[in-house]
Amino acid sequence: MRLAVLSDIHANLAALDAVCADLPEVDQVWVLGDIVGYGPQPNEVIGRLQELGAMAVTGNHDGAAIGTVDASWFNPDAAAAVRWTATVLDARSTAYLAALPEVRTDGELTAVHGSPRQPIWEYITDAGIAADNLDAFATRHCLYGHTHLPLIYRADGSRMTVVPATTADAIALDLRRTLMNPGSVGQPRDGNPDASYLLLDIEAGRAEFRRVRYDIALTQRLMREVSLPPWLIERLALGR
Ligand code: ZN
Repeated sequence: MRLAVLSDIHANLAALDAVCADLPEVDQVWVLGDIVGYGPQPNEVIGRLQELGAMAVTGNHDGAAIGTVDASWFNPDAAAAVRWTATVLDARSTAYLAALPEVRTDGELTAVHGSPRQPIWEYITDAGIAADNLDAFATRHCLYGHTHLPLIYRADGSRMTVVPATTADAIALDLRRTLMNPGSVGQPRDGNPDASYLLLDIEAGRAEFRRVRYDIALTQRLMREVSLPPWLIERLALGR
């Protein structure tokens, strides 16, 4: 089965549409939360995910936008964007976000936004945190997002090693357990502003990171029109 794994789209329709145009034929599209927040087109992004029949989990921004996650932990820019998002979400989008689970499991895969032991809030930012999460999921692989940084942590015995998210070659998967982050579609933070996602074929043992150019200026213009915070607009061009 071929999967496209997308995360942290953040209401950036231009980035999502560029990824969709780049997609080869896949059996399923998985989305690891933070569908909304930061960006200018939350309803349109949710509509597109519904058209794709995406299998999604919820993220901290999704919950904050509909009032099920406490937004008092957000930095001022993120909080301002969440407040704006809450004012524009239509009833269909609100119902869609409210129905998302925190964890999805299917075959060899578990999907979460933050981490398997704290699906909404924990950031997996190093190999130690990744190792501490191995006992929190029962499948071979875990897909997570939240940091906006594409990479794979692979368990070699009790140690975790980092497999960089190169786009040069597909990465071979074997029996070793992993935590895989596809990077962010709508707000990359690894210094590369191109939308990031992951193609996965577990049976064939292949993980392939992809980067896609999109019309950043279009998303920035839409953000300016609705007065979203300047830094959120600027950072899209910087990829950080
Ligand atoms: Zn995010």
